[in-house]
Amino acid sequence: MVCNVLEYLEQAGEKYPDKCAFADTTKRMSYTEVVDTARRIGSGILKRGIQGRPVVVIADRDLESLMSFFGIVYAGSFYVPVDKALPVERMKTIIQVMDPGLILYQGKDSKVAEQLGETDKILTIEELLESDIDHEALEQVRAEHLSTLPLYIMFTSGSTGVPKGVVVSHGSVVDLVEQFTRSFCFDENEIFANQAPFDFDVSVKDIYLTIKNAGTMYIIPKSMFIMPKKLMQYLEENKVTTIIWAASALGVVATFKGLDKIKPLTLKNIMFSGEVLPMKVLHYWQANLSQAAYVNLYGPTEITCNCTYYKVDREFAIDEVLPIGNAFFNTEILLLDENNQKAAPGQVGEICVRGESLALGYYNNREATEKAFCQNPLHDFYRDMIYRTGDMGFYNEKGELVFASRKDHQIKHMGHRIELAEIEIQVNILEFIKKCCCVYDDKREKIVLFYESDGEHEVEIIEELQKKLPKYMCPNRMIYMEKIPMNSHEKMDRVKLKKMLGEEAYAEK
Ligand code: AMP
Repeated sequence: MVCNVLEYLEQAGEKYPDKCAFADTTKRMSYTEVVDTARRIGSGILKRGIQGRPVVVIADRDLESLMSFFGIVYAGSFYVPVDKALPVERMKTIIQVMDPGLILYQGKDSKVAEQLGETDKILTIEELLESDIDHEALEQVRAEHLSTLPLYIMFTSGSTGVPKGVVVSHGSVVDLVEQFTRSFCFDENEIFANQAPFDFDVSVKDIYLTIKNAGTMYIIPKSMFIMPKKLMQYLEENKVTTIIWAASALGVVATFKGLDKIKPLTLKNIMFSGEVLPMKVLHYWQANLSQAAYVNLYGPTEITCNCTYYKVDREFAIDEVLPIGNAFFNTEILLLDENNQKAAPGQVGEICVRGESLALGYYNNREATEKAFCQNPLHDFYRDMIYRTGDMGFYNEKGELVFASRKDHQIKHMGHRIELAEIEIQVNILEFIKKCCCVYDDKREKIVLFYESDGEHEVEIIEELQKKLPKYMCPNRMIYMEKIPMNSHEKMDRVKLKKMLGEEAYAEK
């Protein structure tokens, strides 16, 4: 039984020492080089005496960031990737939640690092690369390892205004890659092309499926996603066999007709997740790459990437919805009604997940953890945790699970998971705001902020939000109101506000 993800890396290194494991735009690294580099970084971190503590990495889309993750794991710690493009204020919030043992960055990002002001904890990856490998110390760490220990923490938007750090163990990632490999028959010939940034758990599948199968992973430069034709050329040139991308990334390629001229025929598996894939996007891909298998993957970060999958096995009309399918092996889906009983066939219920893939909870946040991770309400004989996703679904007549809606105010926008409440909290902090309410305009795919104030303050609001929130969380439209409408429960009337946007869309036609 694999207890530590590094076993995959080392096994691949023994079997295929010279094979390219990872590549970015500037270099390629063989399995031997990856193991050696990671051990070097790990030995350097071990000298700092922070074993078992989290290490924050100011991450970029490159091999150095990836090597630092493996190095941190060699040192018996766990990594917390933070995208270097995030506003400094948000990085500080994450650092505050984590209280990390170390913060790693690359010399080229020293300006960002300086602004964090954590001088006693901050270190460059380059400095760690100079370390000698301390085999004895690394072996000692390995001997003390448990599969239940954290491997990484990914931050997701939090409705209380503070992002939540989802803690995922080695065991859950081992379960993930074993079930994926079994379900999709991956092997050492697999070539993955990584789309998702490293602080987004979609990338976890690329990284760990690569080392589990001794395959190869290319880190696609971010700039390619605004040039979909070049992107397809890149996949073709590198003979990519599998992409596991956010649904929104497939959407970009379809919108800009990226496959019209270049069709990467080496692609065998086209997998997507994160939100409902519009049927016209699927049709476009299928029409251009009919040789590939298409798989809809579903699941939140808290259950380690995905808990269900649906291999597209029939044709769908433009007005049909793709099912999210059935649970992976070693995972169970419970569909619960409002009385916490199993939903009747065809009835909509909350999608709850059970199995080894469940995260360990939210870092340093017992309250949020206990709300979402709780005892299976169907029995009380022994400890049996489920994760309540907040997603609503139902089984269709074929016995496939179908995603219906969200229970709360969480949305997906440009591929990102966002709690609208988190934006509202930041707006409400502003002195001149009396009240505000964020709604999502599904039709135009825009975050709309309604605010009540002494007058219009659009510029000030956006200036303040840009300092604190990632770009994708800043409202796309702001509407000043003298009075925000309230409903009969004295709550802001979101239904009415949404309806107003709907009526506008209707008038535009
Ligand atoms: P994240 O934790 O960022 O991966 O977001 C997880 C949420 O994205 C889920 O709880 C769902 O609301 C949504 N989601 C993920 N995959 C799918 C899918 N295939 N279809 C519909 N919604 C999805």
